[in-house]
Amino acid sequence: MDELTGAQLIAESLRTQKVEYMFGIVGVPVIEVAMAAQAAGIKYVGMRNEQAACYAASAIGYLTGRPGACLVVSGPGLIHALGGMANANMNCWPVVVIGGSSDRNQETAGAFQEFPQVEACRLYSKFSARPSSLEAIPSVIEKAVRTSMYGRPGACYVDIAGDMVNAKVDRCKVRAVSCCPPPPVSLADHGAITKAISVLKAAKRPLVIIGKGAAYGRAEIALREFVNICGLPFLPTPMGKGVLPDDHPNCVAAARSRALLQADVVLLLGARLNWILHFGLPPRFSSDVKVIQVDLCAEEIGNNVRPTVSLLGDINAVVTQLVEHAHKESWKYPSDTEWWSTLKDKMAANANISKTLALQSKLPMNYYTVFHHVSQLLPHDCIIISEGANTMDIGRTMLNNYLPRHRLDAGTFGTMGVGLGFAIAAAAVERSENKGQRIVCVEGDSAFGFSGMEVETMCRYKLPVVIIVVNNNGIYSGVDPETWEEMAKMGDLTSIAPPVTLLPEARYDAIMTAFGGRGFLVRTVEELHSALQISLSDWERPSLLNVLIDPSSDRKQQEFPWLTRSNL
Ligand code: ADP
Ligand code: MG
Repeated sequence: MDELTGAQLIAESLRTQKVEYMFGIVGVPVIEVAMAAQAAGIKYVGMRNEQAACYAASAIGYLTGRPGACLVVSGPGLIHALGGMANANMNCWPVVVIGGSSDRNQETAGAFQEFPQVEACRLYSKFSARPSSLEAIPSVIEKAVRTSMYGRPGACYVDIAGDMVNAKVDRCKVRAVSCCPPPPVSLADHGAITKAISVLKAAKRPLVIIGKGAAYGRAEIALREFVNICGLPFLPTPMGKGVLPDDHPNCVAAARSRALLQADVVLLLGARLNWILHFGLPPRFSSDVKVIQVDLCAEEIGNNVRPTVSLLGDINAVVTQLVEHAHKESWKYPSDTEWWSTLKDKMAANANISKTLALQSKLPMNYYTVFHHVSQLLPHDCIIISEGANTMDIGRTMLNNYLPRHRLDAGTFGTMGVGLGFAIAAAAVERSENKGQRIVCVEGDSAFGFSGMEVETMCRYKLPVVIIVVNNNGIYSGVDPETWEEMAKMGDLTSIAPPVTLLPEARYDAIMTAFGGRGFLVRTVEELHSALQISLSDWERPSLLNVLIDPSSDRKQQEFPWLTRSNL
């Protein structure tokens, strides 16, 4: 008789569904599941916190279009993973979480780590269920994988009772479930496409906004053609960066505020009108802006702004429809309009301000100096992962992306602590695909702290991630070591230290060297260049550059505060 354990059935079902990567932390009752996953040909990465494991698994979904799996133990293990599920769901990224739970005959009796896990996951996922028997495992896993990818992507949860892991079932009693295909593609209504083109043609100040839905939807080729044919200015959202290269002549990212405020028609491609896009409302947008909204999620259409044209469908397919229509009409937005001159003037002025700040030679360095020099050394095809407040905001404007899905950051949920998990996932994909791409993590010192122990994971698996910690001694800002020591003499630091402060000049680089990676303490431009060059040429192990900057360094003057809520 050919018998299978529950663990083997879970592993084989995931493999059948083309899940290639699993991130997790083992313990009772899921150790055997991780071992079975490896035996089934799934790559298993053991992490140090379930939150980071779930961030990593969800980044696999974004990078490959197929979910990664996150494996966790019962109770606290699953609860730690909820943060990752919420982040994935908010970002619309597919991920499948597999959680061990108590043995069924101990439920409600106060079992070890007992918790209502299926209910707990509901708020953080699209689908949350426990297979009722071993025989049901393949179909529940297929449903979880399918649901994570179909419609608006998101997180799914499968609960495995502890006693099911080692229980056995006769293989011939298990109904085979085949691999679910990629999501079916839907096109927009033909009449709406015609209307969209006529609204675009009538626009005086058109703007295309490219969101991370366009990146996830692999719309880069169609979009490049569309922008080239129609000659429209475009603006990427933070993770829409790279769908078309940041140095494309039609990219107006450096005039973002002006472009948003003065556009009369916005073609919105896979981006929600949420806080990232200032809700699509005044004072950041014109009150009579016409929006052409493209999204595959019908419920998203009309949020905050009623669109003039709704194009419900897959971005790649819809943009292809738009290209065909524009071709037929051989329409192109002229390149000599007042709109183009106003955008170009603003871009030139903004570039000058950043450059002046970047070329300041005083020490400690400011953010702009650091990013200016980092950007000179980073290879064009590197994947940039970024988090932290100023580090992420300023880095976004100064570090270019040239390829789609090559920027991952705190995202829709503004989650700090995602960086190292994302980097581990990207490095695991790079190891399989061997494209020779560097994974570079640009972190604030506070953001790094949330998942800092994942440095050990990178060292253990010899993942050559380069981490740049832009260290300003705090959250938003910190103080210098002398001020800190003076404060310590004045009284109990827990009463007087500003809550934003972290240990001045903390040696984050020593965490990396502790585990065998390369660590560098960087204070000057020369040290930055040399440390980054050495790190980028090492493919054997990770590196961490601890870049000490002026703790009072800030963003340049902004026209609007980032999180304006006055419009709601
Ligand atoms: P950003 O953070 O870049 O502004 P959001 O995450 O807010 O982007 O929005 C992404 C949008 O893209 C979501 O509303 C999601 O439903 C949509 N989306 C995801 N994949 C596709 C796709 N293949 N086709 C169309 N829309 C998509
Ligand atoms: Mg900081």
